[in-house]
Amino acid sequence: MSEARGPEAGSLLKVRSLTKYFGTFAACNGIDLSIGPGEIHALLGENGAGKSTLVKMLFGVLQPSEGRIFWDGRPVSIGSPGEARTLGIGMVFQHFSLFEALTVAENIALSLDPKIPLAKIAEEAESLSKAYGLPLDPHAHVADLSVGERQRIEIVRALLQNPKLIILDEPTSVLTPQEADKLFETLFKLKAEGRSVLYISHRLEEVQRICDRATVLRHGKVTGDCDPRQETPASLARMMVGSDVAGVHRDSTTDLGSALVQVQNLSVPARTPFSVTLKDIALEVRAGEVLAIAGVAGNGQGELFDALSGEYPVGNDEAIRLCSKAVGRTGINGRRLLGAGFVPEERHGHAAVSDMALSDNLLLSRSQSDRSLFLAGGLLSVIRHDAIRATARRICAAMDVRKSGDDPAAGSLSGGNLQKFIIGRELDRKPAVLVVNQPTWGVDAGAASRIRQALIDLARAGSAVIVISQDLDEIFEVATNIAVISEGRLSKPYPAGDLTLEKIGLLMGGIHDSTAHSGATAGGVHAH
Ligand code: ADP
Ligand code: MG
Repeated sequence: MSEARGPEAGSLLKVRSLTKYFGTFAACNGIDLSIGPGEIHALLGENGAGKSTLVKMLFGVLQPSEGRIFWDGRPVSIGSPGEARTLGIGMVFQHFSLFEALTVAENIALSLDPKIPLAKIAEEAESLSKAYGLPLDPHAHVADLSVGERQRIEIVRALLQNPKLIILDEPTSVLTPQEADKLFETLFKLKAEGRSVLYISHRLEEVQRICDRATVLRHGKVTGDCDPRQETPASLARMMVGSDVAGVHRDSTTDLGSALVQVQNLSVPARTPFSVTLKDIALEVRAGEVLAIAGVAGNGQGELFDALSGEYPVGNDEAIRLCSKAVGRTGINGRRLLGAGFVPEERHGHAAVSDMALSDNLLLSRSQSDRSLFLAGGLLSVIRHDAIRATARRICAAMDVRKSGDDPAAGSLSGGNLQKFIIGRELDRKPAVLVVNQPTWGVDAGAASRIRQALIDLARAGSAVIVISQDLDEIFEVATNIAVISEGRLSKPYPAGDLTLEKIGLLMGGIHDSTAHSGATAGGVHAH
């Protein structure tokens, strides 16, 4: 019927009834999409909606089960990324594929014709990076570069192929606000040249700011096709999650109990040339409290998490006390036995083993600390598979984990759903202390609000919770008290109600507590 109207005039890419099955599960189900030249088109949807699957089909990484793709009005089949590049499609993946030991230019050369001399590649990469406002030293080693710089390599690599369409899968989830602004300038430049951009994001404000059109996916189907500037964040969120996103509820007054986390004189030298030295950190978290630690990425967050969790025990046993026990030299399992839970930032390979089923991942994290729950039979310990599966099921139900089977491999879950599982796994143990690093990194609005509510509820039930986050909205949503980490130093804690965004900004920039305080007051930034 609509075929009779012919391909939409002027559309560069058009997708008809595109479907992808994994087994019997349709990750993409009858998707229609069309992108015009010079258009920045958003692909919106909560985690697991099918966004990455869709763009992998457009880039030839996955083959569609059903449906057709039209390029410049002609039906095409895109058998590989090489074929996609030849058509004029470039892609920047969610997870980078760079070799750390090689230089920027050497990495770029890997995806190009081996006959092109390296010097020429370096020269072109440098001039492109200048032209598009993506500063990059072609001779730098990737290992020395920040996440933002690594992403620039991927973008420059895609631009070297002179694409008509460039696809970016959640590019800003790894960037600071400043880096994101730079990226938007680059995208506007691409648009001005008549190139099209397919932009995956779950950040509604940013989609409204930069995108001309948005296609919204839910459970593998298109649930909206709109001009995002004509929508409100609430109406976009409704298309994504199907109902109003639940607000997070927090009691304004909370009675705090005894201190469950006590850190004093915690100094840890940098382990590698690229890590941060922790300098004389002190903090205290009481029962019923969420201490949120804000800061720009790379200021010691990972190092602080490693010290708190026992991933890297510290020399001074008294520097860290959990539930009144000195644990500085105790490893992660010993700290878990005391009732602490930890959720690291890096989900794949660290918090979960991708190839293993969810239930086996659950067993892995518990075998050391919760034997009673899973193992029966005195000397002859027997793994109780049914109990583990039931617990995995309970966690999935409690956190609304969307998955393609009863007990799939962890790696088959989308990032946000895996994160809900990992956080649910810790919450299910009802830990007295929970330390989480970037709890909603790359997670959609619905899942993020569920995770934040769960963290607040845990504290309300009497646990001490530490949330390390770069997301200031998140910090203000969950925090009882807020401290800021900058260059390995931690500020004193401020009650969340006493801090403004401006004051936090000063602390994040490394301005000393006293200066930040008087500066903020003198500037009259207190809105209330
Ligand atoms: P999004 O990018 O929107 O977060 P994805 O496209 O990554 O979502 O995933 C969509 C759904 O397809 C998820 O439920 C995910 O678990 C499933 N899925 C993705 N890749 C695979 C795969 N290789 N095998 C099985 N299921 C998969
Ligand atoms: Mg994805």
